[in-house]
Amino acid sequence: MRLRPALLAAGLLACFVSRPVTAQPSKQAAGTALKKGEIRLTYLGNAGWEITDGTKVVLVDPFLTQFARWAPGSKGTDGPAQNDPYVPDTALINAHVTKADYILITHGHPDHALDAGVISNKTGAVIIGHETAANLARAYDVPDARLITVIGGEDYDFDDFSLRVIPNIHSALDDKHYYNNTRGITGNAPRGLKAPLRRKDYVEGGNLAYLLRMGGHQVVIMGSMNYIEREMEGLRPDIALVGSNSQRLEVFEFTGRLMKALGNPAVVIPTHADAYGDPKPSAAALADRKKFQQEVATASPKTRFISPTWFEPIVIPARR
Ligand SMILES: [Zn+2]
Repeated sequence: MRLRPALLAAGLLACFVSRPVTAQPSKQAAGTALKKGEIRLTYLGNAGWEITDGTKVVLVDPFLTQFARWAPGSKGTDGPAQNDPYVPDTALINAHVTKADYILITHGHPDHALDAGVISNKTGAVIIGHETAANLARAYDVPDARLITVIGGEDYDFDDFSLRVIPNIHSALDDKHYYNNTRGITGNAPRGLKAPLRRKDYVEGGNLAYLLRMGGHQVVIMGSMNYIEREMEGLRPDIALVGSNSQRLEVFEFTGRLMKALGNPAVVIPTHADAYGDPKPSAAALADRKKFQQEVATASPKTRFISPTWFEPIVIPARR
């Protein structure tokens, strides 16, 4: 969800210095050219990712529509008002999404769930998320055969990969008054919605993180700047996509506690920290990115920190 201006000024990110472990020279078609044991993660902006082992393609919170905000001639606003329609940008979706087997939704806010229904209808991908995510997709006539509703705690096998669904909590927006901020962005989306949806239809509907086991790797995936420590404790991912814009600073020892709970992952990649796709992030946003990197270095000195660049694949080698 969009930050209040004060928090925005306090510092989002977007340094986009890419230091891939093994960078591909160019964007590949999804599902090709990976060696056994490699996994490829491609940043789609905001909290969005494409993750593949060359067999299955899993998307996380795809929100390509955000880039319309920064297109030439647009005003770079926060998007539509609460009562106005919020329509997925099919041109941007078609430009960046060609294949998907599954779509993981962390929560129902528009910067996470807006494009999922359109992408499911385009690719046939199965959407996994809370009932709210399912109902938002049903508004786009996504059939129940392509919806897997979860509540957190599931650990499902999909043959080519497995997925642990992790109960989670949303970023502490509005100086921790997230649940009583009067903005109407919590709660659940009902059945019976029909597209086009209004912005206010995209309520949170609860929050999830995921542990994706794929190609011999384990990837922790967060879509918010918060977590439940006991739900992360004991997981041993080699890759962690950590929600890490300045909202994390509301949380006690956010980075240190998380690194410890996860056993100091070999690779940390910040997510939801790109200043909402702003190609010209503020100095404060850039400074905050650096601060998060330092937090990781302090808490977990051996962890490799990779700042993602939009649409540039990051290939992680096979685990030894
Ligand atoms: Zn949100």
